[in-house]
Amino acid sequence: MATLLEKARAGEITPEMEAVAGLEGLDPEKIRRGIEDGTIVIVSGHGRSDHATGIGKGLRTKVNASIGTSSDLADLKLELGKASVAREAGADTLMELSTAGDLDDIRRRVLAAVPLPVGNVPLYQASTDAAARLGSNMEMTADFLFELVARQAADGIGFMAIHCGVNRLTLETLRSQGGRSGGLVSRGGAFMSAWMTHHDCENPLFDQFDRLVEILHEYDVVLSLGNGMRAGATADATDKAQIQELLINAQLADRARQAGVQTMLEGPGHIPIDEIEANVILEKRLSGGKPFYMLGPITTDIAPGYDHITAAIGSAWAAAYGTDFICYVTPAEHLGLPFPEDVRQGVIAARIAAHVGDMIKLGRRQRDFEMGEARRSLDWEAQFALALDPDGARAVRDLRPGSESDGCSMCGDQCALKVGSSAIAPICR
Ligand code: SF4
Repeated sequence: MATLLEKARAGEITPEMEAVAGLEGLDPEKIRRGIEDGTIVIVSGHGRSDHATGIGKGLRTKVNASIGTSSDLADLKLELGKASVAREAGADTLMELSTAGDLDDIRRRVLAAVPLPVGNVPLYQASTDAAARLGSNMEMTADFLFELVARQAADGIGFMAIHCGVNRLTLETLRSQGGRSGGLVSRGGAFMSAWMTHHDCENPLFDQFDRLVEILHEYDVVLSLGNGMRAGATADATDKAQIQELLINAQLADRARQAGVQTMLEGPGHIPIDEIEANVILEKRLSGGKPFYMLGPITTDIAPGYDHITAAIGSAWAAAYGTDFICYVTPAEHLGLPFPEDVRQGVIAARIAAHVGDMIKLGRRQRDFEMGEARRSLDWEAQFALALDPDGARAVRDLRPGSESDGCSMCGDQCALKVGSSAIAPICR
């Protein structure tokens, strides 16, 4: 069956393209052209076309929330609760990244519960299942991995972060540059590097790339070329290993698209603010403008407990420069598996960052303009309606004394806006 990319090339506007156009307020032909030229992807998943979401040039910056069990905390109910909180808080997509428990069952339960496109990282389950079934994750074989990818795709996973660019050349680049200050922090990248070193062989996801692409084509899964060499410390940002992997991924992205598979590229990671623009420019130039999915970027290493903020700062800049898709970071980052409240805070922080970026990238300022007007007229209901987190805003106001008055407890009876509404009105309007 033809993929969305092949249909776009044939000039067909599909229901998914119509749906994305409606959500974005754009002409469906613009979406079709974006898919055809590779600057837009639509993620949905096999049998999940009702959940189509567009990512790419000219579209609102999208926010992903990741959930998933770990060997220290494997509670399906908790993860389903987090998925629900992520959706309610406004996440556009979900990544199911469990590494403990019955992973096929967890994936199917999450897919059934969440009306969002769901992505994953196949290597996580490959490592977990190989350890459980074959005695060690080093016993994973290429066949084991590709059969798993096909099973995940058939279940309805819409986009897969796949670490094809962690190959012999990338690892040699890492070795010759003298390693990393912060080590390897990508779980998929670290596992594949260890597996390749253990077997002294090439990465099957690179070596048998055409086999991978054939599976993704069959289920029309978006290939998200993973960033296994992303920096986990700002000292390592934009180093040779990261750029080497990006070069390889850019070449693989062209091959995937030639085979009819929609593709985006992933990027780092921990990046000082003054290197974010360069990272976006490099991805866009080398890939020919394909959608960029940034993980973070986290802009300082020294704020554990507040990394939803360090990442929101970075993602706002990244989105403004052209990043299309950002992965949320929660306050629990670097400290532990997130709880539902961490997920909520992470999604809200990422949505703020995406909007701040879109104010620049897409000139989306109407809502801010309306908020300014609502504030000036002390119209609290309008302010809540315009807020990115209406319930959170209302809760803050309701907790303080004076919430029955026009103004608020910040200035009390010296409310500048009340003064302005009378004495200064003639010169302020
Ligand atoms: S009291 Fe102060 S902060 Fe509150 S609405 Fe008036 S000017 Fe704004």
